[in-house]
Amino acid sequence: MTDLRFAWLEITGKCQLSCTHCYADSGPRGTHGAMRTRDWSRAISQLAELGVQSVQFIGGEPTLHPDLPSLVDHTLDAGLSVEIFTNLVDIGPRLWDTFSRPGVRLATSYYSDTASQHDAVTRRRGSHARTQANIVEARTRDIPLRAGVIDVSSSTFIGQQRTRAARDELSRLGVSHVGSDRLRGVGRGAASSPSPDELCGRCGHGAVAISATGEVWPCVFARWISLGNILDTDLSVILSKVAAATPASGSSCWPQGGGSCAPNDPPRA
Ligand code: SF4
Repeated sequence: MTDLRFAWLEITGKCQLSCTHCYADSGPRGTHGAMRTRDWSRAISQLAELGVQSVQFIGGEPTLHPDLPSLVDHTLDAGLSVEIFTNLVDIGPRLWDTFSRPGVRLATSYYSDTASQHDAVTRRRGSHARTQANIVEARTRDIPLRAGVIDVSSSTFIGQQRTRAARDELSRLGVSHVGSDRLRGVGRGAASSPSPDELCGRCGHGAVAISATGEVWPCVFARWISLGNILDTDLSVILSKVAAATPASGSSCWPQGGGSCAPNDPPRA
């Protein structure tokens, strides 16, 4: 693999929310997995040596990992840019300091301009108000932020989902890049076993994902395609398998994690 530029780092399976469509099947009972902080630091250093220019911390909710701030510091020190895909439900002062570091930007998901619809998707009352308040806080602090509105109406009974109104509201709140996405048939979003039809065919082309258990996948959505585990195999050896394992399909997407996979999202590298 010669064009590696981007990596998803899925540092936890734990989340305060239990979204109906979560491709990572995350929730309050999730764990930080087998990867220790020193394992993540080593992986980040290796990714930098292999040409990666940017990483996205995801989960689960990456802000629930106690060492996210130090991992972000390590990533920036390695010369990489950082995106943190967060639900923005509960952000304390230490995390705001991390978010405010040059080279860090945020991404989040949003489902409706009404609390009742948004909270029906996240399955936590009050999450809409918390996320909205922290979107405002991020903009007040001038932290780069993009948001994706995911159409989950095919799997969740919330009436006519107000996706257009949600996008309009995000724009009014000052979010400069508002994307949209469809539900992915992976994890809790899958009606049956995951299918390669859910993938775009570009998995592994310039990108790789590492899970909280150390598994390496060609994309965060291609979770059933394990290329190896960095806890027992060198990452460079694993990456040599990426191109050969990449499935092909006719659709296109630009996976960015957190359920957002919008074609008009910005490039990963
Ligand atoms: S979609 Fe994101 S916010 Fe929702 S349960 Fe999954 S990890 Fe948590």
